[in-house]
Formats: sequence, structure tokens, C-alpha cells
Amino acid sequence: MDEGSDDDLVFIEEERQPQGSSVQDPTWRILIADDDHDVHEATEFALSGIEILGRKLELIHAFSGKEAIALLEREQDIAVILLDVVMESDDAGLKAVEAIRQELMLLNIRIILRTGQPGQAPEADTIARYDINDYKTKSELTHARLFTTLTSAIRSYSQLKCLDTSRIGLEKIVSASNQFIAEKGLNAFADGVITQLASLIGIAPEGLVCATDDAGNPEQYRVIAAAGRYRHLIQHRLEEIDNVHIARSLSQVLHNHCSIVGTRDITLFFRKNSEEGFAAYIESVAPIRDVDQHLLEIFCTNIALCAKNIDLVTELRLDALVDRQVNLPNRNALVAELDRRGKQGTPSDVITLIDVDQFAATNDMLGHAYGDALLLAIAQRLRALFDSRVFVARLAGDAFALTGPAQLLEPDGIHRLFAHPFLIDDIDHSVSVCLGIASCAGCTDSQDALNNAYIALRRAKALGIGQSITFSPEIGEAARQRTSLLRDLRQAFELRELSIAYQPQIDLQSGRVIGAEALMRWRRRNGEFVPPEQFIPIAEQSGLIVSIGRWMLPEALRALKRFHQAGLGELHMAINVSNIQLRQPSFLDFINASLAETGVSPEHLELEITESIALESLETMISLLNQLRSRGITIAIDDFGTGYSSLNYLEQLPIDHLKIDRSFVTTLASSERGSRIVRTIALLGNELDLRTVAEGVENQATGDRLRAFGCHAAQGYHYAHPMDEAAFLLWLKEHA
Ligand code: C2E
Ligand code: CA
Ligand code: CA
Repeated sequence: MDEGSDDDLVFIEEERQPQGSSVQDPTWRILIADDDHDVHEATEFALSGIEILGRKLELIHAFSGKEAIALLEREQDIAVILLDVVMESDDAGLKAVEAIRQELMLLNIRIILRTGQPGQAPEADTIARYDINDYKTKSELTHARLFTTLTSAIRSYSQLKCLDTSRIGLEKIVSASNQFIAEKGLNAFADGVITQLASLIGIAPEGLVCATDDAGNPEQYRVIAAAGRYRHLIQHRLEEIDNVHIARSLSQVLHNHCSIVGTRDITLFFRKNSEEGFAAYIESVAPIRDVDQHLLEIFCTNIALCAKNIDLVTELRLDALVDRQVNLPNRNALVAELDRRGKQGTPSDVITLIDVDQFAATNDMLGHAYGDALLLAIAQRLRALFDSRVFVARLAGDAFALTGPAQLLEPDGIHRLFAHPFLIDDIDHSVSVCLGIASCAGCTDSQDALNNAYIALRRAKALGIGQSITFSPEIGEAARQRTSLLRDLRQAFELRELSIAYQPQIDLQSGRVIGAEALMRWRRRNGEFVPPEQFIPIAEQSGLIVSIGRWMLPEALRALKRFHQAGLGELHMAINVSNIQLRQPSFLDFINASLAETGVSPEHLELEITESIALESLETMISLLNQLRSRGITIAIDDFGTGYSSLNYLEQLPIDHLKIDRSFVTTLASSERGSRIVRTIALLGNELDLRTVAEGVENQATGDRLRAFGCHAAQGYHYAHPMDEAAFLLWLKEHA
């Protein structure tokens, strides 16, 4: 503590007010323990009318060691014991000393031993061990000596007590500081200051705290906390305080940056910085005595530090709650808001999550600066178009959240908000979004509602672009099932329970087998097959498909090698790859390594990709496909006609084959429309110099018509079902 801070504290001795007489003046309590009644009388006589350190003495009498201990157990605040050594036994006094220090743990009470004869004196180490204040033979304790001995004993008792209070006070300050850090904001903090200060001095919390109203105008003070009978003054301005004395004390302290300690009240100044601080006024019914000046200084400094920390924490908290990039509340703030609204009970509220479609591709194509500008524009539009009933937040990346009354958050309305393009760098940018909606009603936890909205959003995104899904228990159940399926799939993959089936592809002109498509199989331990339509999408969504693919592709190539070694040298292997696999930066290296490792030549590898790669960054994809094809690898577009096909993309993509989707092939025989579609795709393929492969051929008639349309190859149950490697080899031999 620096020297200067002493100036902060001014002690004022006030006139004692008349009401003070109701309070008993404190005394020093002295216990006399002696089995000799004469000694009691003599002592009483010697001390009658005496005051020590400004207080009268109160004598308490015990006539045995046992009685003395019993009294000490009951009575509080005994300062000194005049203790006879020999009472009910030769060492009754020494036993009492041991009990006082070790059992009752009374460490402050001063002990003066009195002995009849010098021979009964305790050993020096006993005196030290039990902290015996003094020992005198009875004859030594004359009137004058008794007075001086008692005075020094009482002085040291009073100092010990003070130290005790200081220690307790310091502990309180430390724990108060810790509490304050955890508190929310200055008001709660100021409330704590009153309580802590009152308990530090040992009085009931009656008082108030004033602080400047706004930093710009330091002359404006307001009551920010009030306790006890001053409670009604909370939030009032300093001038409005109806008690002139209090108002004057506070304004004096706030102006002079200096505390005032009176006998019945204390007004403390807490310095936050060189200009700013706040003041606390505490009043006591009883006179405030013996306030330790140092303690108050420590308290003020510490509390002022806390106040500074609170400002800091408030700032940090703000930082933790705001997304600085788009200046919207962030996810933490959303959760807090949901909690707040949840407590208010707003059952008609919904939470709507918004995800910008194809944002990653936009970012890739147009650059991150452009992506950031787009997000900012979206944030601003959302904030501008909803009033305060709707809470707008940014969750992460390209995901935003709205929460508010359902009627303000109709999905169609939100989609319409995006129908109008965003102007960025003088370019109109059209954006579509997916929405995931969940009701807040019935959610005990705000996190639940948010999770439900996430689940709904994930569903919406799986459906494609511009979709909205509202969470329902069924959707929740489906999500749970997907989660458990994913867990099982992970385990099955680790335990090598996945396998590959091979389905032959037939050249429609010659009728010869030209290759095979590798298809994933998952057979559970109970023998049941899980259809790929169920587990492949989950593997894709979770990214597990990447690991599975890293195992599957070389595995299929090794099988191909074995087919070649069995004398079927011209067969190729078609392998399905998902977009997420293609997106791996290491994909090309992986393919090269797999070919090198298995010794299969690139011409014998065909990769089946889907039209949805058009949704990826097109330039990157075109370059990747070019590199694959330059190696000699064949590229086929799978499920052609079911996806986002645009002839424009088809023209640009460097591909070799079109696989006509099974859904068209199946209707080929039965509907005129199906037949027209298949014929058109076959023509288109010829026009673009692409070979066409029909999948799902289940009968001879379909195969014949496909050949007539100019389709090049086919696969389907009519020729063969997908088979494991052994069955496939057998089938090949028979077919040849
Ligand atoms: P896909 O690539 O279109 O595979 C053709 C699907 O049609 C296979 O279903 C095959 O068993 C089935 N199929 C073949 N001929 C006929 C037929 O004559 N009639 C009928 N009704 N169906 C026929 P599967 O094996 O259930 O695979 C389903 C889908 O799972 C595949 O469709 C493919 O998209 C995906 N898939 C399978 N294995 C893999 C893989 O290793 N990687 C990736 N990324 N996807 C895979
Ligand atoms: Ca396929
Ligand atoms: Ca297909």
C-alpha cells in the first residue's frame, strides 16, 4: 500500500448522539479462578473503580479449575484469567491452562498464573508452550503491580483481537473479490460492497452506493445499490436523497476522492481510475469503534480493483457475445437469449436456422472477400427486416438463426427475403437458403430447441437447395436412428464387416462382359444386409465415406487384378466415388498410389461420379477430371437424368460415359414417356461422343430396345445380380 493512499481516509470524531446511551458500553471481562475466597475479595477490592484503556472491568468468579473451564466454555470475550495453580489438585491450574489452549482453543485470552509459593511455579517451557502471559506469586500482586500486569495483558489481548478481526476481514475481502468477479455487472457488485463492508465492521447492512451516471458527465451521480432502510433510494439521483447528511457525505467523498470515517457512519471512496470512482455510505445504530484504518484501505483498494475488473469482464462478455465480423449476436448470445425467453415462457416462439446454399462454392469461385461481403449483406438485411421481437444471430460460417414468434418467421416469408438479390461489388448475387425450424414449446432446455432446429436444417440440406424442414418427433427419431446407424457402420468398418459385390456390365452389341461395377455390401453379424441406400448417405454426410473409399478402391482393384489373372484380361472396374471423396486434395495422389500398388493400368479403372458435382466448384472439378482422364482413367456420370443436370455443365465436364438411371430404364417397356427419355439420353450421348450405359436392365426386351436406341452397354438383374468375388468368377467362367 503506498503512502499517499493514507490521505484517502479521514477519521472524524463526532459528538455522541443521545440515543447512544441505549447501547451498553463495553468492558474488559476478567476471570478470577481461585479456591481461596479471600483472594477473590482482595482482587475485587484492588480493582474496584479502575478503568484500563478506557474501559471498566467486569469480574467473573470461579472457585476451581473445573468451574473456570465450564465458565470459559459458556462466556464470550473474556480477556484475562487470573489463575491459581493449586486448587482442587496440586496442578489444577496447569490442567486448566492445557484445557484453555488445547481443548477450548482460546488462543487470545491472556493467562496470569498466581502461585502461593515460588516452588509451585511452572517450568519455563510450560510457560512458553501454553502462551502463559505472566506468573506471579500471590504476594507479588500488590495493588499497583496487579494494575500494571492487567494493563499489559489487556493491551495484548486487545491487539490479538484486532489481528483476528483483520484476518477475518482480509478473508472476507478476498472472498468478496472472488465473488464480485463472478457477479454480473456493477449493480450487483455495489450491492455486495454494502454487505461486505457492513460485515467487515460487524454491523447490519444499512447503506447505499453512489456512482457516476455516465462517464461523459461525472457530476451526475445515481444510487446504484441500496440496502436496509435506504432501499427506496435505489436508482435515485444523488440530489434526490432525502437525508441531507447522507447526501452531503456522499457528494463530499465523490468530489474530494477521499473517505470519511465517523463514529456512526462511514463513507468510503473507491477509486476506479484517476477521474472516476464510486462511494459507499454505511450507517450503524451503535457507535462504530476500532475500525482498522489499514483494513478499510485494503478493502477500498481491493474493491476498486474489482470494479475495474468488472468493467473489463463486461467488455469481454460483450466480446464473447457478439460476432464482430457481421455485428450480430453470436451463438453464445443466442443460447442466452433462448434461455431468457424460455424462462419468460414464450410457447409460440420458434427458432429458425438459415443456411446459405452453396456458400462454399461461392467462396471458392469469387474469393473470401466476396464471401465476407455477402455474409455481411445477409446479416444486415436480416437485422433490418425484423423488429425487436425477433432475435437475429449468426451461428457460424454461413449459418444464421432467428428466434421469435412463429407468425413472424413463416418459412415462405424468409425464403422471399432472399429472393431479392444482394448487390455486392456492383454485381447482383442471388442467394437461396435452407431452413431448419423448431418450436421452443416443450423444450426444457434451450439447447434442445437449438439441436432440434439443427436436425431439421440438416434434413433440409440433404433434400437440396432452397428447402425448409420443420422439426417433428418423427424427424428427431429418424436423426437418432441415423446416429445409431452411423455408430454401427463405424464399428462394422473397423471390424472389416464391409465387403464388395461385383455386377457385370455387358456390351449390348457383342453380348460380351466388358467390366464390372463394384458395389459396397454391409452384412450385420445377424446376417441381415443393410441396403447401401441407407448407409452410403450416412457415410457421406459424416465423411466416413473417405476412409471407406480408401479401403474399398484398392480392394476392388486387387480383385480386378485377380480377374485379369484368371484370363479375363480386358475387364474394367467401375467404382462409385462421392463428391466428398473427389473434394479431398489428396484424391489424385490416392488414385495414383492405388494403381501403382495394385499394378492395374489406368485404362481399366472407371470412376462413377454424380451430376451433383456440378454443385461443387466447377473449375476445380474440371481440372481434376482432366488430370484423371489424361492418365487414361474413364469417367462416367452415374444416375444420369435424376440430378441437377444442366446441358451446359454436361458440355463442359470432361467425361466418357453416361449411365442412364435405373428409374428410366425400368419404365422403358411400360411407358411411352420413359421410352422417349431413354432414347433422348442415348441420342444425346452419341451427339456428345459419350458412351451410354443403361443400368437396371431386368429383361431381354429392355436390353433389345436399348440396343435399338444405340445404347452401348448395360447392367442389371437380367444379366446378373451383384455377386461376391468367388461367385463372380464362377459366373464369368460359365458366361464365357
Ligand atoms: P448405383 O451406383 O446406381 O448402383 C446400382 C444399384 O442398382 C445397385 O444397388 C445395384 O445392386 C442395383 N441394381 C443393379 N441391377 C439392378 C436391376 O436389374 N434391378 C434393380 N432393381 N436394381 C439393380 P446397390 O448395390 O444397392 O447400391 C445402391 C447405391 O449405393 C449405388 O447406386 C451407389 O449410388 C451407392 N453405392 C454402392 N456402393 C458404393 C460405393 O462403394 N461407393 C459409393 N460412393 N457409393 C456406393
Ligand atoms: Ca454406380
Ligand atoms: Ca444408378
